[in-house]
Amino acid sequence: MTKKRKKGRIVIDRELCKGCYLCVSVCPDQLIGVSDSLNQKGYYPAEFKGNNTGEEERGCTGCATCAITCPDVAIEVYRE
Ligand code: SF4
Ligand code: SF4
Repeated sequence: MTKKRKKGRIVIDRELCKGCYLCVSVCPDQLIGVSDSLNQKGYYPAEFKGNNTGEEERGCTGCATCAITCPDVAIEVYRE
């Protein structure tokens, strides 16, 4: 039997994001990157890179570290 990892996903509100990238630095699986387009406030918002790594052992676990860290409460976490 294969070990089952917890699965989750996040949604980042790109208009709330102020581009501090704390979330980028804390994700244990480096699943958050930086958008290449500006939001309306003039920041490059953080962006969820998704679970499409093609590797079972990677992907968002729904640990919520990113959401807890975000000073602007721009991240919502969903657990599957
Ligand atoms: S921690 Fe919040 S405000 Fe900072 S880059 Fe991430 S989503 Fe944006
Ligand atoms: S919930 Fe955890 S694993 Fe998922 S993106 Fe945020 S920090 Fe990374």
